[in-house]
Amino acid sequence: MNWLKRLLVCLCLWAGPASAGCEGPPSFQFDQRIPDGERAKLRRWLGEAAQTVAELAGQHPVRCARIRVYDGGRGRGAVPWAQIDRGAAEGIRFYVDYRLPLHSLRSDWTAMHEFSHLLIPFPGNDQPWFSEGLASYLQYLLMARAGILSSDEAMKRLDRGFRRGVEDDDHGAIALEELSRDMWRRHAYRRVYWSGAAYFLAVDTELRRSGKGSLTQVLAQFVACCRQQSRHWTVDSLVQVFDRLSGTTLFADTKAALMPRTGFPDLSRPYEYLGLVQTGHGVRLKAGSPWRERRQRLVADVAIGRRRISTAGTKKGSCAPLASLFPWGLTEVGHLFVQVIGQLLQLDGTVGGLRRGVAGHAIKIAD
Ligand SMILES: [Zn+2]
Repeated sequence: MNWLKRLLVCLCLWAGPASAGCEGPPSFQFDQRIPDGERAKLRRWLGEAAQTVAELAGQHPVRCARIRVYDGGRGRGAVPWAQIDRGAAEGIRFYVDYRLPLHSLRSDWTAMHEFSHLLIPFPGNDQPWFSEGLASYLQYLLMARAGILSSDEAMKRLDRGFRRGVEDDDHGAIALEELSRDMWRRHAYRRVYWSGAAYFLAVDTELRRSGKGSLTQVLAQFVACCRQQSRHWTVDSLVQVFDRLSGTTLFADTKAALMPRTGFPDLSRPYEYLGLVQTGHGVRLKAGSPWRERRQRLVADVAIGRRRISTAGTKKGSCAPLASLFPWGLTEVGHLFVQVIGQLLQLDGTVGGLRRGVAGHAIKIAD
């Protein structure tokens, strides 16, 4: 049997992880219905979102993420649909209206939202408040970081998101923990997404207030140490690691306070820190120090150890040219083959870190 095990080891080395041999930038695949003349524009738009997230994290959170772009039809917005692909080859599927000009595509938040999802591994379907909250919290801050919005406009959009969460009050006195589990059946998207975003705003501002860094720094450290680990992640295990990286218990403490809440989270403390004053119809931004600087830092925070991020398309060594030879991609063919052999030999399913969660999600809530 030794020769078989040796063969398996070789296949593992050949097959994975899925990012092996990739240098970082995402690879793009286009629906045949999207004309060649439109693809450079789409690459530029989505490449900008990938780069902005990579600059926040200090590197691409998923090396050689596979970005598939489909025709989403005309007149339904820039991105009527998007889906995160988990599993052996992580990536994102975008259904877009490729006919729109670049400035219209850039002004849509979906690309920043979806690329933010890649910062953390899939933590399971039962607590979407965490992954959706992170992506919703970051989407406007990333647009400001990319220069699409001003930092003040990002704050106003964030506030409008929280208001949508508050207004989504058709769910009775149900604690967030239960509402999040039941989100799909109850269509409680806005309440769950924006409660999660309020959690990350609370933790981020508290980290800053106490001089313990920021969410950006925690995410950058997480991407560097742990993002590519082949292990089963849950919200609790992510919170535990985030606390360890920040040297606090803020992530766990804030979660413990939030989960039993039946109403929308209280924003008064983070708003006070950022100089945001809620008015009848929106939010007023206090002028002067220290509020303006705090808001600008929230947008322009630089990750520790940040380095230059390459987004110059697919380079030598990236997986795209090889993957294009196979309908499922080379690495997935390898993984599948090893898994089949492993099953036949009744080997541990974690050989070579091959057992990965396969899940995706697709949701687009109204802006
Ligand atoms: Zn999402």
